[in-house]
Amino acid sequence: MIPRTATRWQTTEWQLMLKNSIRNVEALCSFIEIDVNDLQQRDLAHKDFPLRVPSAFAALMEKGNINDPLLLQVLPQAAEMADSLGFVKDPLQESDFNAVPGLIHKYQGRVLLIASPSCAINCRYCFRRHFPYQENTPGLAHWQQALDYIAQDSSIEEVILSGGDPLSASDSYLETLIERISAIAHVRWLRVHTRLPVVLPQRVTKDLLDLFTATRLQTSMVLHINHANEIGDDLAHAIQAMHSYGIRIMNQTVLLKGVNDNVTSHKDLLLALHRHRVQAYYLHLLDPVKGAAHFFIDDEQAADLYEQLRRQLPGFMLPKLVRELPHAAYKTSLQDQAALKIATN
Ligand code: SF4
Repeated sequence: MIPRTATRWQTTEWQLMLKNSIRNVEALCSFIEIDVNDLQQRDLAHKDFPLRVPSAFAALMEKGNINDPLLLQVLPQAAEMADSLGFVKDPLQESDFNAVPGLIHKYQGRVLLIASPSCAINCRYCFRRHFPYQENTPGLAHWQQALDYIAQDSSIEEVILSGGDPLSASDSYLETLIERISAIAHVRWLRVHTRLPVVLPQRVTKDLLDLFTATRLQTSMVLHINHANEIGDDLAHAIQAMHSYGIRIMNQTVLLKGVNDNVTSHKDLLLALHRHRVQAYYLHLLDPVKGAAHFFIDDEQAADLYEQLRRQLPGFMLPKLVRELPHAAYKTSLQDQAALKIATN
């Protein structure tokens, strides 16, 4: 058993850093030393979905590089305001599965709780950028309806905390919510989908780790890392600490034009994940959300890229190449398409 190693950060630190996040294009440009006049008009896009990025994440961007893959994920672009066929506000039709406020029940055996409406960062490709959070964040006092729903369906064995970003909630809020979930006997697993440790590793405090290991629920963490440059020393430290607490860590990535649409970028990321003992879980095709069409990569390009990765890396390092379809019973695999390509070449 590895001895537990707490991280070096205190709760007040991440809260202050979150409060002091960069919230406008001018401040971000100044921070990463690019000329704001070099950017295309983006004011409307910012108004529609405001720029938000912690300086810890901005510090990983290459100074002076207007095409930095981390910058492109957060920078409002004029292209977001253009209408694109098939790109809609609710691409996964989650409203059809919004059984009670704060809860989405789409797949058998598991439900998703919108544990927090906010995020530390606003990712321009986010499929929930138009999500009606005001109707779906009941708050601790009002979780009972969602918890009753889970308690009444004994097939639900896993609860997934999502958002927004669940780790943007306070420790005491998470502790109470987790206690109430764990009081439901048939729930066995807790999964946390989060980008917060990636963009603000200081969130991974000893108190947070204690909280996830105090519960009887078997806890796993799914990080959202899209590029190897997102794994700096602080995230490596946070991952190491999570390992020492016995938390299973996986990663999912979204395939994004201009950010990671090449084999080298994915290979670097997968090798880095392996080095840090993070299981690559999903490589997602972009969900067609309104405002994100400029990140789109088609199926053929995705299958090509995956085929190259399959040729160059051992199978255990590869994520599953998938897309989420609104009414499918599970994520749809595109690996078969890639396999077909190999067979016919
Ligand atoms: S929910 Fe995830 S992808 Fe969407 S803005 Fe928040 S961190 Fe980014």
